[in-house]
Amino acid sequence: MNCRLGCGACCIAPSISSPIPGMEQGKPAGVRCIQLDGNNLCKLFGKPERPKVCLEFKACTSVCGARNDEALTNLIELESVTLTVCKP
Ligand code: SF4
Ligand code: SF4
Repeated sequence: MNCRLGCGACCIAPSISSPIPGMEQGKPAGVRCIQLDGNNLCKLFGKPERPKVCLEFKACTSVCGARNDEALTNLIELESVTLTVCKP
């Protein structure tokens, strides 16, 4: 599927551990990326400063669902599952 422009769920729900311009430590889960503009579009789209992890994230129906709130819910759930799995 193509990314639903203006969704932005994957720039809010997940934690990102790699540095983001303006958020050098990355970002915690549930925090809006500083590079997400008011229309929920990435200000770094197409620029070399865009983190690799963002480039690699591809829209897919199982995560993005059919609506933005579905994507947010799925990503929040995935984040909590990942955290649980990764705990020592
Ligand atoms: S969650 Fe999916 S649809 Fe929403 S912005 Fe990210 S890739 Fe696009
Ligand atoms: S850098 Fe862009 S794509 Fe990556 S989380 Fe921030 S707004 Fe989203």
